[in-house]
Amino acid sequence: MKILVVGSVAYDTVETPAGKRESQLGGSASFFSVSASYFTEVGLIGVIGNDFDPDDRAMYERRGIDTSGLIEANGKTFRWSGEYMEDINTAVTLDTQLNVFGDFEPELSEAHANAPYLFLANIDPNLQLKVLDAMASRPKMVANDTMNLWIDIAKPALTDLINRVDTLLINEEEAKQLTGEDHLPDAAKAIIEMGPTSAVIKRGEYGATLFGGDFSFAAPAYPLERVIDPTGAGDSFAGGFMGYLASVDKVDQESLRTAAIVGSTMASFAVEDFGLDRIKNLTHSDIGKRFEAFVDLTRFNPLS
Ligand code: AMP
Repeated sequence: MKILVVGSVAYDTVETPAGKRESQLGGSASFFSVSASYFTEVGLIGVIGNDFDPDDRAMYERRGIDTSGLIEANGKTFRWSGEYMEDINTAVTLDTQLNVFGDFEPELSEAHANAPYLFLANIDPNLQLKVLDAMASRPKMVANDTMNLWIDIAKPALTDLINRVDTLLINEEEAKQLTGEDHLPDAAKAIIEMGPTSAVIKRGEYGATLFGGDFSFAAPAYPLERVIDPTGAGDSFAGGFMGYLASVDKVDQESLRTAAIVGSTMASFAVEDFGLDRIKNLTHSDIGKRFEAFVDLTRFNPLS
């Protein structure tokens, strides 16, 4: 197993200008693992309730995702409800029910604990720390994501965690909230001072910027005519980003730059339909063509 991910497995109720969906499969770990599964072997650590639909587990398995760490507990699956009515780039959370995540104790097999790449997707930072501590040795690369809720209610644990990761992926607003800085490069600098060697700051339809201490790189978002559902764009970005790095097994500057474009490629598919509907049914040819469209989108000649 190349990448281990822990994060939420959820039933989401989502409203966007394109419509409303009730209880669709989502969660940070779902989007991440489905996206990364196009590039490498992924193992998923999480918890579901007795209400979890067996067809949803079968979907992960069809994508080759190892679900031996996805355990069923008594109770209901994590539920999130949100809308994007005022601003398509910003999710407004209407309700969060941790349910079975409330007292989840992750258990890692030997294969899980030896994964060389670890992604701590958005979930309680205390749980992210437990998984990091349960690894057999420090993975080659550890990255994490988070959100405003955890900055509000679990900042000490989150700060400990950020100190121990290589890369933090975070939305612009949350980067500013976390660091108290209003200006993006200052927020990135403050994050790097917290411990990571790089930070990816995600800006919705304006793309993402990778800050690496001594370099930065701007990855645009694909100019889609219509965004149907932005839920999971950030996690799908992370899945493409880490999936690519794990597949080439390198985390140098050149690989990080390409990984940011692969991340943008996967995020652009995620938003084309509700939930996982688009991203779970891609072909390698779809991904290759969209990646080439990014090459064209950012191609320019040097000044002569
Ligand atoms: P994003 O990539 O940021 O759009 O992530 C969307 C996913 O995050 C949704 O599928 C939600 O189920 C999940 N989510 C929302 N709130 C939380 C939370 N507090 N902890 C973990 N996952 C969450």
